[in-house]
Amino acid sequence: MHKQVDVNDHGEPLDRWCWPHSEAMNGAEIKLFLGRVNALQRYTDNAESVADQLMRRDRDPFDDRKICLACKNLNGDYCKQRYASKAKNFQPVKTVLWRCDYFKQKG
Ligand code: SF4
Repeated sequence: MHKQVDVNDHGEPLDRWCWPHSEAMNGAEIKLFLGRVNALQRYTDNAESVADQLMRRDRDPFDDRKICLACKNLNGDYCKQRYASKAKNFQPVKTVLWRCDYFKQKG
């Protein structure tokens, strides 16, 4: 009786050569990247680029930038926080990474 061999199984974890051991995305990052691309496509033609920026931000412990889409204060095209203040005409660019003192993480 022959033992079936998986030619893709090299006997080592697939993420062994990926982040943080190299620049290649690991399995968890790929899954998150694809989810972000899927979610961002409604808002920008550069969904892959924004998802890539978010991945690089996640890797950098000193990068604290956020996107408005991840903020509780975003209400459609407006920011509740900014609207309540004097910046009533402020329209957030939802997919640009930046630092905002009023950011509140969703969920
Ligand atoms: S509080 Fe800041 S990060 Fe949040 S939606 Fe408003 S402008 Fe964007």
